[in-house]
Order: sequence, then structure tokens, then C-alpha cells
Amino acid sequence: MATLQTAVRGSPSSVAVIVPSKPHALTVTYGDLAAECTSFQRKLAAIGIGRGSPVSIAVVNSYEFIVSFEAASWQRGISAPLNPAYKQDEFEFYIEDIKSELVLVPRGAFAANAPAVRAAKKFNAAVAECYWDDVKKEVALDVKDLGQLKGKSKQELLKAQSDDVALVLHTRPNADELGYSGTTSRPKVVPLTHRNLVRTMGNIQSTYNLTAEDRTMLVMPLFHVHGLLCALLAPLYCGGSMVVPTKFSASEFWSDFETHKANWYTAVPTIHQILLKSPVPTPLPQIRFIRSCSSPLSPAVFEKLEATFKAPVLEAYAMTEAAHQMSSNPLPPAKRKPGTVGLGQGVEMKILNEAGDELPHGSEGEICIRGENVTKGYLNNPKANAEAYTKSGFFRTGDQGKKDEDGYIIITGRIKELINKGGEKISPIELDNVLTRHPVVSEAVSFAVPDEMYGQDVGVAVVLKPGEKLSQEELRAWMAERVAKFKVPVKIYFTEIMPKTATGKIQRRIVAETMQKQDK
Ligand code: ATP
Ligand code: MG
Repeated sequence: MATLQTAVRGSPSSVAVIVPSKPHALTVTYGDLAAECTSFQRKLAAIGIGRGSPVSIAVVNSYEFIVSFEAASWQRGISAPLNPAYKQDEFEFYIEDIKSELVLVPRGAFAANAPAVRAAKKFNAAVAECYWDDVKKEVALDVKDLGQLKGKSKQELLKAQSDDVALVLHTRPNADELGYSGTTSRPKVVPLTHRNLVRTMGNIQSTYNLTAEDRTMLVMPLFHVHGLLCALLAPLYCGGSMVVPTKFSASEFWSDFETHKANWYTAVPTIHQILLKSPVPTPLPQIRFIRSCSSPLSPAVFEKLEATFKAPVLEAYAMTEAAHQMSSNPLPPAKRKPGTVGLGQGVEMKILNEAGDELPHGSEGEICIRGENVTKGYLNNPKANAEAYTKSGFFRTGDQGKKDEDGYIIITGRIKELINKGGEKISPIELDNVLTRHPVVSEAVSFAVPDEMYGQDVGVAVVLKPGEKLSQEELRAWMAERVAKFKVPVKIYFTEIMPKTATGKIQRRIVAETMQKQDK
């Protein structure tokens, strides 16, 4: 049966998870992991978590993240990982949107009345601190407030089914495809079933020949599909292991890699670039392959990575709706082609025109996909679902691309206008909506500006109300209170009038171009 339970597949005595961070360094075998997940599942069941219960997980990469994620899904609950760095407004949106019954936060968050806790209380979700208890040697579920679970009866231990939703994540709201429109475009909820996730794990296993011998450095955040599926679930599915630092640090990366004998990693191009700029270890550890995904890897960085780390670099292409991976460059001896995202891996990929007809190799169109990993549709959103799939059941990725003569996919552009900051997708429309809440801002249009390290960063054109004054620093500080730090605009252009098209429409691309001319 295709459920996440199969993820705990390693032999009981072999290592599954290594947490290098002090003071809670841990080495966990598959036997320990299975026992811990069952015990945590019991704790969830005891407070009434059961089939379809949404559980928000707002803790950093850690053993407790892994255990709570697995256990909630075993108990037929729905895990909803959230960026722990969100501000209260952001937490409120996500917690309300999926009707979280329980919000997991780190130790001490309740006493500190942290943003996730305040948001949970507002919607009467239960709050529990989830952490490694070094005295009891177990992952604690320390319930601080039962909220709506009060009086809910204890559940039995359940067994997940393949078509149960195990994970929900939100897309970043896209701007109107025709340009800027003031209409609200909400993030859509992507439900992913056990079957979707297991299919991706299998696809990743076969793409990279992952086995129980492989060990990865998990450096991508677990609240997005890249880290969750490729660096956590796929290795578990193969009985392999992973090293899980709390966060990525270039200075510790190679020492952890060497000490714990890792042999591959997957990351966004920004992380590869940081590693290239940091001291290279001598002697070099043996690296079986390096995977790059989530934003474009330039051929120059590709070449430098291979030359520096003496390992094949495999660029892949993924998205949340596909439970991560769609295509990847293959392992040697098969050809890898820089500037392409390789071949569909267990996923059918076609380039379609607007009418939904397949285009010949070399022609540009929309990249569309079909496979068991792909979500069946956004939650409660018939309108979006009607637009998202073709008649033959292909999902429209919103990315523009073509196939080369060997069928390798080249991404040529984006139909959507999300800002891709080092793999983290940021919605310009979400930022516009926050910015125009500022009392002296009359109009705001956000867009991507080029950035050497992140690929793209956030820029914004702002028109102030007549007679008002505002400095860049004031606006940044105001934004920093309302959105997570990575969304705060780095480039702010104050302008008297917002550039418009001949027909009086505001188009994001035109605004971006006009503003950036000022830089030259
Ligand atoms: P994560 O959220 O973990 O970063 P992800 O990148 O797999 O995961 P999304 O955040 O949903 O998923 O972003 C999907 C979009 O990212 C794609 O539609 C595409 O525009 C872009 N993308 C992903 N991989 C690449 C790549 N190798 N090159 C260029 N763009 C990419
Ligand atoms: Mg991403």
C-alpha cells in the first residue's frame, strides 16, 4: 500500500537521522524512529487528532519536525508545515485557511506568546510545544492550550490510506496573468495524498539510484516540498540516512558532511553559490552527485560546481503541485545538459499550446505534466481547477518551455509573475496588498529585480498620497513588522505616477522596466 508508513523502511539497526547541532546532537536508527513516531502518534490520538485533522507544524528543521510530520500523517491527519519565521498576520492567514486544529511550536514559544501562538489562539487552535526532551529522551508534545480540542474524545490509533491527504501547502498567490490587477488573488491550497508523496519518493529513488548506503545533508527548509520530499522523505523511502542541521551554515556544511560521511546533497542555486564562495575542504569528500532545483542554475555556476567539487551536478525541475520533482538531468553515463532541467522522471511532460495541442520539439509553449505524483486539484477551488488541467488530464505548470532534440526540457520563461528569490517564491500581489495598507501609500506595484546571489529579489514602485513623505528605511521597517524578513523589498522606487499602458492599465513588467531604468 502506498502510504507514508512505508517511509520507515530501513533496517531497524541502521542509522536514519543524524542531528549534528549541539546541545541536542542525536543519532537515530530506523528502529528508534519507528518507535518514536508511534509514540508521538499515540500522543496526538490522545488529544483527539484523527482522520483529516489539520496540524500546522511551525518548528525548524529538526528531529521533532520529522517525527511530528510522520506521526500526524500515520494518524490520518494532515500536516501543514509553516515557515517558523512568519509574522503573526502570515500565521493567521495559514492557520485560518486550513482550519488548523493543532499548531506545533518550539519550546518556550507559549510563554513568549510568539506570533504562531497568538495566531493559533485567535482561531482557537490547540497549541503544543514540540521539542526533543533531553531528560526523558523522547520527542515531547507539551500541550499548552487545548483550544477547540477541549472535550474532544481520544482517538484510536489509525492506519493511513493511500488516498488520504497527508500534506497541505499553499502556492504563493499569482498576479493576474495579463499584468497587474488590483483583484485579490489568494494563495491556493495544494493537497497531496500519501499516494502522491510515495510516487515522488519512488521517482527520486530511481532518478538518482538512491539506496540504503546513501546519506544526504538536509539543508533545505522542511516547510517546502524541495527539502521535505527530496532530502527527507525520498532518503527514508530508500532506507538511507540524512544529516539534519537546524539551518544551513556554510562553515559547518563540509565539516558535518565529512564527520558524518554524507555523499550527496540537494539545494537551490543560492546555496551552491555560497558554498563556492566558502573555503573548499581538502581533501574533498567523495560526493556521488549534487542536485540543484527550484530556480535556474546558470551554466557558469554548473561548470564551476563540477570543477570545484568533482561531482556530477544534476539540475532538476519541481513544483509544489507535483509533490516536488517533475524532471531531472540523469546520472552519468547518461548525458547531463547545463541550461536544461533534464527529462521527465516518472512524470509525463508535454509542451502544449493554449488550445492544449502538443507542440513539436523546439517550439515554445506551456510545460504540462501528468503523473501519480500530481495533485488532483486545489482545495475548494473549482475555478482554479477548471483552468489548471487540460482535457487529457495534464496539469498546466504556468512555466514556459521547450524540448531540445533529445527531449531535454528548457525553461524559457514564466507565465506566472512570482518573484523567485533563491527558490523561495514570493507573491508580488501579496506584497502590493500589504504595502497599500500603509497610511501614506497610495499605489504599490512589486516585481522581481535581478540579484547576483538570489537570482531575483524584491523591488517595489510606490506612489505616495499627495503631500506625504516617507523614507525607504521607514517603509522597510513598517514592512518588516508585517511580513517575514525575506519578503521585505530591497529596492524601493518612489515615483510620482505609476507607469501605465496606452489603455491605462498597470502592467507589472512595464513598471519594473521603467523603474529599473533609473538604476542605469
Ligand atoms: P520549494 O517550494 O521547496 O522551493 P519547488 O521549487 O519544487 O519547491 P514551488 O515553490 O512550487 O516548488 O515552485 C515551483 C516553480 O519553481 C516552478 O513552477 C518553476 O517556475 C520554478 N522552478 C523549479 N525548478 C526550477 C529550475 N530548475 N529552473 C527554473 N525554475 C525552476
Ligand atoms: Mg520553491
